Amino acid sequence: MELHERSWVEIDLAVFRENLNFLKSFLREDQGFLQVVKADAYGHGAKEIANAALAEGAKYLGVANLDEGSILRRQGIKAPILILSPSLPDEARAIVENSLTPGVSDLQLARLLDKEAQRLGITQAIHIKLDTGMHRSGIRLEDAQSFLSEIAKFKHLEIEGIFSHFSAAEDDEGFSKAQEEGFTRLIESLDIKPKYIHLANSSALIKGYAKACNLVRFGIMSFGIDVIGNLQNKLLPVMSFKSTLSQVKRIKKGEYVGYKLSWQAPRDGLYGIIPVGYADGYDFMLSNKAVVEIAGHTAPIIGRISMDMSTVDLSSIPDVMPDEELCLLGGKSKETRAENLSALYDGSAYELLCQVGRRAKRYYLMKEQVLHSAPLARRDFIASDFADSKLSRIISQALSARLRSEEIGEMVYREILRTLIFNQDRDVHYRRNFRHLVRFDEAEEGYYPAETVLTYDKVLDSDYFIVACAASDEVLRSYFLRNDVEYRWLLDSGLSLSEDTFEISSVKVGGIDLHTEIHSGEGFLEIRCHHPELANLIGKEQEFEIRTKTFYPADSHQLSVFISDLTRSVEIVFEYPASLKHVEPVSIFSGQEKNPAMSIEEGRISLKTKEDQWVFPLSGVVFTY
Ligand SMILES: *Cc1c(COP(=O)(O)O)cnc(C)c1O
Repeated sequence: MELHERSWVEIDLAVFRENLNFLKSFLREDQGFLQVVKADAYGHGAKEIANAALAEGAKYLGVANLDEGSILRRQGIKAPILILSPSLPDEARAIVENSLTPGVSDLQLARLLDKEAQRLGITQAIHIKLDTGMHRSGIRLEDAQSFLSEIAKFKHLEIEGIFSHFSAAEDDEGFSKAQEEGFTRLIESLDIKPKYIHLANSSALIKGYAKACNLVRFGIMSFGIDVIGNLQNKLLPVMSFKSTLSQVKRIKKGEYVGYKLSWQAPRDGLYGIIPVGYADGYDFMLSNKAVVEIAGHTAPIIGRISMDMSTVDLSSIPDVMPDEELCLLGGKSKETRAENLSALYDGSAYELLCQVGRRAKRYYLMKEQVLHSAPLARRDFIASDFADSKLSRIISQALSARLRSEEIGEMVYREILRTLIFNQDRDVHYRRNFRHLVRFDEAEEGYYPAETVLTYDKVLDSDYFIVACAASDEVLRSYFLRNDVEYRWLLDSGLSLSEDTFEISSVKVGGIDLHTEIHSGEGFLEIRCHHPELANLIGKEQEFEIRTKTFYPADSHQLSVFISDLTRSVEIVFEYPASLKHVEPVSIFSGQEKNPAMSIEEGRISLKTKEDQWVFPLSGVVFTY
């Protein structure tokens, strides 16, 4: 694989799947699993890991808090999501609105959840958290009965689960057994039978403490970390942290390397500079301790790890050149496994994964093929404030400024372009020469058969994308927050969503006819468009062409076409049958031009900006008829 980065992580989803299958082999028939994806799935990427685990049959996902859960919802994840840590009272409303399941261990939160659920006219699922000896959050066992009867009074709450957590399942047998017994006894004494009873994390499952559960929470071991100690042949690391040597240098006997003279050369030799330091999550405590995997050997880290650089002894490795790829964590050798590296400084493999995974650019692999990558800038941008809502906010501010003063408006507008395109997120790939044509045929049974043709130029940033049709506003909205959706359509509520009501006639990128795969679910139809040759076009501007066929209600009397991305020069065309007599366009444009040139002929209206004019999202035209 040709990667040109200072450092990156590779997330191997095929290995993740094998680890899951190993763990699943310990489950009884009546037991399912919850995939823990907190802390961005221990640095592996919550969305990708969630999707991979759901494909392997996960019944539930687990996150640390409301924010993590609502990001997954915005990324289109529909599966049930449990919030493992205690939530704040202020979060009750958003928990209910995002259909998340909170872990509950206090009445104040329960009361607020009940109120929010009542307001929306729904029943809110909750899982009761018990404390079986860890003494962190949770209701003490002796208080559980009375707590449950208080909860039972809330008419809009449903106890869907009861759970607890082990303190040291991987190594303290006596304590774990006592926790398991306390939990089991309590569950058996209850009159209620919640759908999910769960206690075990991944190591507890392997250790045999999951007998009382019908759900097991998979965490660290699914990422290939053997916290028990004899499974390093069964579990393989999903994450590998890699870099390339930036320099190879000579050193003479007696000379020192790095800060504080902590390493002295015992003889003349060679050493290399790795452009990775503790700021990249490579722990400072690994100074003078770790090894890296390079050119089929392992080589020791020498000297102190600096903020942005580390040094490696290459004396015993022949012919190493700068640019040589190396692996600092994960990879093939035992010594670079997170559990073995963290053991060198009495640290935690959990922490090491999180700190590395937080910063590095990620490449997702499946059987050695790169599926796609998640660039760092984009990740931060989305996690901090959901790109699109930020964009709309900036634009609405710009517009209101414009209304008051043309001059200020112009200034703000220049500033937005600079911030968006040149500074903030280099991954904003805008569309150019965007043309959207909608053609109606004569109505049949209350619907116009509608053909849409979309063409534009854009830098291809992935080897696939999605064309989506939503059956509700809510689903449609979620598609606007996804980076991999190129085109979305909202189906009229009078139609049932199927391949007959929304069809892709063809999708082309750079003249290549893409393969399409349809995936449908509750309220959505997604068409995955891909082609092996796209991988070679990534990073280059391409012509996109998307043709669809669908139906539009005659009694709606209006058709809206909106621009959802930052775009440079736009044309919108509506072609309609003669039976539609009084069609009128109302254009709402923001950007350099507020009134694009309009041409009205019989059966055809088009609006077109001048060449190279910037158009902001949420611009568009409403055609009334
Ligand atoms: C993090 C977490 C897990 C996962 O535990 P692992 O040891 O990583 O398998 C399970 N349950 C709860 C409540 C957690 O917070």
